[in-house]
Amino acid sequence: MSDNKYAIVGAGLVGSLLSVILAKKGYSTEVWERRSDMRKAGFQGGRSINLALSNRGLRALELIGLGEKVMELCIPMYGREVHDENGDTRFMQYGKDGEAINSISRGGLNELLLTEADKYDNIKLHFDQRCEDINFHTNEISFLDQNEHLEKKKYNIIFGTDGAFSAVRQAMIKSDRFDFEFRQNYLAHSYKELSIPPTAEGGWKINKNALHIWPRKSFMLIALPNLDGSFTCTLFLAYHGEVSFDKLKTKEAVLAFFKTYFPDVVPLMPNLADEFFENPTPALATIKLGPWFIPNKCALVGDAAHPIVPFYGQGMNAGFEDCTYLNMLINEHGENWEHIFPEYYKLRKPNGDAVGDLALMNFIEMRDLVADPVFILKNKIDKKLAQLFPDQWVTQYAMVTFSDTPYSEAMRLGLEHQDILQKIVTAEKDIEKQLESDALKTILSKYIL
Ligand SMILES: Cc1cc2nc3c(=O)[nH]c(=O)nc-3n(C[C@H](O)[C@H](O)[C@H](O)COP(=O)(O)OP(=O)(O)OC[C@H]3O[C@@H](n4cnc5c(N)ncnc54)[C@H](O)[C@@H]3O)c2cc1C
Repeated sequence: MSDNKYAIVGAGLVGSLLSVILAKKGYSTEVWERRSDMRKAGFQGGRSINLALSNRGLRALELIGLGEKVMELCIPMYGREVHDENGDTRFMQYGKDGEAINSISRGGLNELLLTEADKYDNIKLHFDQRCEDINFHTNEISFLDQNEHLEKKKYNIIFGTDGAFSAVRQAMIKSDRFDFEFRQNYLAHSYKELSIPPTAEGGWKINKNALHIWPRKSFMLIALPNLDGSFTCTLFLAYHGEVSFDKLKTKEAVLAFFKTYFPDVVPLMPNLADEFFENPTPALATIKLGPWFIPNKCALVGDAAHPIVPFYGQGMNAGFEDCTYLNMLINEHGENWEHIFPEYYKLRKPNGDAVGDLALMNFIEMRDLVADPVFILKNKIDKKLAQLFPDQWVTQYAMVTFSDTPYSEAMRLGLEHQDILQKIVTAEKDIEKQLESDALKTILSKYIL
């Protein structure tokens, strides 16, 4: 057992996972959460209902023995099912046969992690306690409960896992202990969550093993399956402009918009107009900041350190991977936080920045490029290269989603790949006809050898 006292601020996905990782090492940890216990009060929305869990997230959950249990809560999605304006669909497989990303309920996963945390005597969970401020001279955190009662608690080590609008980060910024770098970029788009209910028999109205996309160039609708037969849909649309949330102020306008751009979806969504006005239109931002720590006192983990837009389905996965790295560093250096925090930052910061950029790039791919014939051709060649030359070529999507290649490396290699794919489609005019031919390997080999 350690003499240090640890605090984790935020019992969301990343904070609850981190608490179990620390507890397994014998560290006494108190976890402070602003909201009520979702296992009693129910899951309070505000973020997406479901999420795509992929390799990096699963590896971290395996560290605390939850890998198999989590998979029972998942629906595998083997590819994108792209819906055009005529209602025709095209399936684009993500990886090799059997490779999938996994749709999981945010509330279900968070509850599972909290229940796991409850099993450890050295974890104390506090709910309805909001971190207001931190004095980094004394490492005292001020918490406010529901009755506006203020309590101060002192810890040796503090982890800020309180999400994109982190109060811990805010306290770090205003602390006089160091200079802070902070760049934020708000998207002109927001999102609206909607749903496709199950069939009368409790089944799924569209293919349940796909992530559905209705790309419409500057905006898009997506849908991920839930275990109860429903789909959670998200409309990503600009706040302002010709086609925008600004123009959707009445139920009639919403229905007319959907009938124009997503006619095949309208019969699937009986509650469309009501849901549209019940759900919020939150802001989406990428924030690049640093450092993520105060030496020997405090570190940011997950969205608190690297808030990103949701288009690569990697925010939670990246936050869980932060925990994998912390676990590794603790294994190497014990409780030497003076050493661990700078090392953690050095290893993770370039990847936090890279996954933010990857997510922004994937927005353009999802809403626009997946319907573009040249992109579709390049995508097919990309996959063929990965099949024919597995030791030399891995698609960027596979690097990000099915491997633990650092995000910064996936970014660099993906850009190199794009140059090569462009050269191939420019030089090999009839490549599309050759995709299934025996000559393909010889044609492509000269571009990668
Ligand atoms: C629409 C959308 C879709 C997404 N889809 C995916 C996806 O498919 N795959 C994926 O990997 N990621 C996805 N993400 C990103 C993912 O939601 C986040 O990366 C993830 O939730 C980050 O987890 P976290 O624990 O760091 O932060 P959060 O989940 O935000 O948790 C922070 C916790 O801290 C608490 N808290 C906040 N402030 C305080 C305070 N002052 N005091 C005490 N407690 C506090 C909050 O109540 C919350 O419980 C998506 C995000 C959005 C918005």
